[in-house]
Amino acid sequence: MSLLSVHDLFVNYRTQGGPVPAVRGVDIEIGTGEVLGLAGESGCGKSTIAGALLRLLPTGTEVTGSILLNGEDVLGMRPGRLRAVRWTETSIVFQGAMHALNPVQRVGEQIEEAILIHHQAGEREAHVRVGGLLEQVGLPPRRIKDYPHELSGGQKQRVMIAMALACNPSLIIADEPTTALDVMVQAQVLKLLKELQRDLGLAMLFITHDLSVLIEVCDRLAIMYAGRIVEEGPAQSVFYESAHPYTRALADAFPAIGEGRFRKAPSGLPGDPPYPQDLPGGCTFHPRCPLAFEACPHIDPRLFDVGPGWRAACLLVDSAKPVLEAARTPGSGP
Ligand code: SF4
Repeated sequence: MSLLSVHDLFVNYRTQGGPVPAVRGVDIEIGTGEVLGLAGESGCGKSTIAGALLRLLPTGTEVTGSILLNGEDVLGMRPGRLRAVRWTETSIVFQGAMHALNPVQRVGEQIEEAILIHHQAGEREAHVRVGGLLEQVGLPPRRIKDYPHELSGGQKQRVMIAMALACNPSLIIADEPTTALDVMVQAQVLKLLKELQRDLGLAMLFITHDLSVLIEVCDRLAIMYAGRIVEEGPAQSVFYESAHPYTRALADAFPAIGEGRFRKAPSGLPGDPPYPQDLPGGCTFHPRCPLAFEACPHIDPRLFDVGPGWRAACLLVDSAKPVLEAARTPGSGP
């Protein structure tokens, strides 16, 4: 049984202009100790999925489908159970540590509070545990008495990671955990997350727009575009042999220094992602796709098999041929 199993997830934000479909029929499976990377441009629905998993979305947001955490239905959980699950089974590391930490409370107290509220230890034991957690994330235990403003950006992110580990969850959702950090600190925090994941056997959902970060830490990748997963599979295959033109564009958006092909043809993707309430027909990527052909504006491609455990929503994938042929047969086309 998967640790996290998401099936047919739809999320509609309610706005004055009508419902905004941010996530449209997403399936996600994460096994014990597995790291899944979720990537895509801003606005593609990644963080909405993170919010939906722990029911952190604004009141009134419509969420349908099923989310099972250790076999338990998250969407049907009572508030008390949900509060416990949010720390003891799954926790989140957010992007902006400065905004997530309470600026007028010492960082040690903030971590300790989580341990005490969730009855993970008595006061004395919790205090000792906080020191241990800080050490685990590479901070001297004496920083327990610091306020957030006394720490650098990278140190604050380490505190957030310590807090996420405080109640021994089996799944961590890391939502753009390194995006706000400079390159050096980003590399340190990534290394830390990788080591913790390996040493503690944690499962992780790692969300970022930066594919080059994901390839460092993930077993599998899922690429999102316009609220759907358009490619998913083993991290190395998806990154280096991308089957979907959008994944290829994302991978090329982070050129390798010294590689000639990037010097000759600068990477980049024309245009912007579509508005969720105004999606183009057929393949939603077709207005920006360099490989689009006549069928693309008419057929909405589902995920087709590319290889073992690897699928892509593109009509150019070999296993999409029967769909194209059926569409070309008179009387059976779209
Ligand atoms: Fe591009 Fe067509 Fe494939 Fe969509 S289906 S990604 S438009 S080639």
